[in-house]
Amino acid sequence: MKVFFKELVFSTSQQYQLINITREIEEVVHDSGIKNGICLIYAPHATLSIIINEDEHGLKEDVIEWIKNVFPRNGKWKHNIIDDNASSHLASSFIGSSRTIPIIEGRLYRGTWQEVFLVETDGPRSIRKVLVLVIGE
Ligand code: ZN
Repeated sequence: MKVFFKELVFSTSQQYQLINITREIEEVVHDSGIKNGICLIYAPHATLSIIINEDEHGLKEDVIEWIKNVFPRNGKWKHNIIDDNASSHLASSFIGSSRTIPIIEGRLYRGTWQEVFLVETDGPRSIRKVLVLVIGE
């Protein structure tokens, strides 16, 4: 069994933003040389999330609209007293900081319309790290 990882760094330009990071992840999987195993995509941040879905403009806006509706910024959140970004923490908590994708025959095993996105909910930020960990053989 082999373990390979790489820390990717992105910057975001908007308060809410989806960035397709699939190509960068596939590059790490390729560089790992691992043919069969799993790929963990993990964001070490409290206000960032990772999702998998279609890269379609309307759908990306729908995702952001859903986040804003479920976790409104002007909600009566207690964390807002100290930091004013409770909704961003809640979005990250419940959408999730990571996703795992199988690697089969050297490739991410994903459907035609499945792309991996970093979901910014507290931008803009100059440094947003994403760890890609590949385990397999
Ligand atoms: Zn906070």
